[in-house]
Amino acid sequence: MNRKVRVRFAPSPTGLLHVGGVRTALFNYLFAKKHGGTFILRIEDTDQTRYVEGAEDYIMKSLEWCGINIDEGVKEGGKYAPYRQSERKNIYKKYALELVESGNAYYAFDTTEELDEMRERLEKSGSSVRQYNAVTRGEMKNSYTLSGEEVQKRIANKESYVIRFNIPVNEELIVHDIIRGDVKINTSELDDKVLFKSDGLPTYHLANIVDDRLMEISHVIRGEEWLPSLPLHVLLYRSLGWENLMPEFAHLSLILKPNGKGKLSKRDGDSLGFPVFPLQWEDPKTGEITKGFKEEGYLRDAFINMIALLGWNPGTDQEIFSVDELIQLFDLKRIGKAGAKFSPEKAKWYNQQYIKTMSNSELAEIFKPIIAEKNHSCTNEFIEKVAESVKERIVLINDFWAHASFFFETPKEYNPAVVKKNWKEDTVENLNKIKEIIENISESDFSTENTENLVKKYIEENQLNFGKILNPLRLVLTGTGGGPHLFDIVSMIGKEETLKRISKGISEI
Ligand code: GLU
Repeated sequence: MNRKVRVRFAPSPTGLLHVGGVRTALFNYLFAKKHGGTFILRIEDTDQTRYVEGAEDYIMKSLEWCGINIDEGVKEGGKYAPYRQSERKNIYKKYALELVESGNAYYAFDTTEELDEMRERLEKSGSSVRQYNAVTRGEMKNSYTLSGEEVQKRIANKESYVIRFNIPVNEELIVHDIIRGDVKINTSELDDKVLFKSDGLPTYHLANIVDDRLMEISHVIRGEEWLPSLPLHVLLYRSLGWENLMPEFAHLSLILKPNGKGKLSKRDGDSLGFPVFPLQWEDPKTGEITKGFKEEGYLRDAFINMIALLGWNPGTDQEIFSVDELIQLFDLKRIGKAGAKFSPEKAKWYNQQYIKTMSNSELAEIFKPIIAEKNHSCTNEFIEKVAESVKERIVLINDFWAHASFFFETPKEYNPAVVKKNWKEDTVENLNKIKEIIENISESDFSTENTENLVKKYIEENQLNFGKILNPLRLVLTGTGGGPHLFDIVSMIGKEETLKRISKGISEI
């Protein structure tokens, strides 16, 4: 690759960044880092009617949480600033006029009503043409039907107008996509898209092409929904005399619903109970709160690992990758053409794998705020021990308290199903015996091994059933069944608390 790699993620602040957007940003980022290039964030906010308050900020915060670092952007600045299209307003008109001048674009003065009428007329006539193009423009109000003088007069009178692209007639165009190969299209299938609007702003198409050129973008990596615009973009490059400077294109396939039927949407997340956004969002209009992966207890690295494998694969069956590994291995050619199914189970699986392999001290840092929120204080050493006992069991960080609360507080309730199964006639008598044994162990000998040996020795010597003793003991200590090694719990909560919980259980169950 002899061109300096410069890629951009170019979201419109019209809503939230969902997993599809995160993946587009991530693939751009990985590609840039792999080739020692630059990752740019450009905000495409020329469509003022679709602007959503707070969306831009949300996008930036999400990228930050994901660790997708921006080299040049709205906040970071850079040689090609500004990076927000609304602040580049004055740049675009020149190019629109240049296109008019060279005959590649023209003025059109049609009102909304006239455009609607045209559509109705075409529909009624049964014509296969349904759009503003070389066939239909002769019936409309534009540079082709009005005299040059009339056009100038209307502009001078500040009449509302747009500038449309003059799509060439019946040309076989071959556009190349890195993922899909050559895509063939006849230009007669395209319409004369508006490039410049009556509000003095460019449309997406013009602004996007002009900015990609001025910012010296080398590769455009974006969602598949933009593939139909590619022929127009190629024609725009050609008409502006930039054909040799055109970036290469890679269009990413859609992210599909878990059942593979259609595009993943926020509604799927709501109805099936999984997040589709990286961070929480509060709708400025309705106040409705939508939780993100972060708030649901996913780890950043697990989330990124999962996203990276949506549609890309390294060619091996390795599934766990650090970001550095992803950078090293990333290759646009290994992105699939087919849509990638989003799997909430897989997202959880990734999180679980990451939790399991994290060190106890790393996990302790994550758990500390949860413990503080519950108004408990304890040493780091204690939290690390708790981390060790629960890390095999928790899937999401938010599961921590459900699996660990008994390390910090006396259970308030006892799981009725577990009580029913384990609380028998002789349970109280058995637990009183265990209480006696524990009373006789000194605080300094209260280790996992020692408490376990002494209790088990008693059970064996008296030929009792392990489950009959140990299950109720677990129940009074934790409020439920299952969980970390029982004598780790005994040793960690200590002698006094163990005795207190046995007494409480005996009197309350
Ligand atoms: N602003 C477009 C979007 O919202 C960018 C498309 C592109 O990357 O060219 O997706």
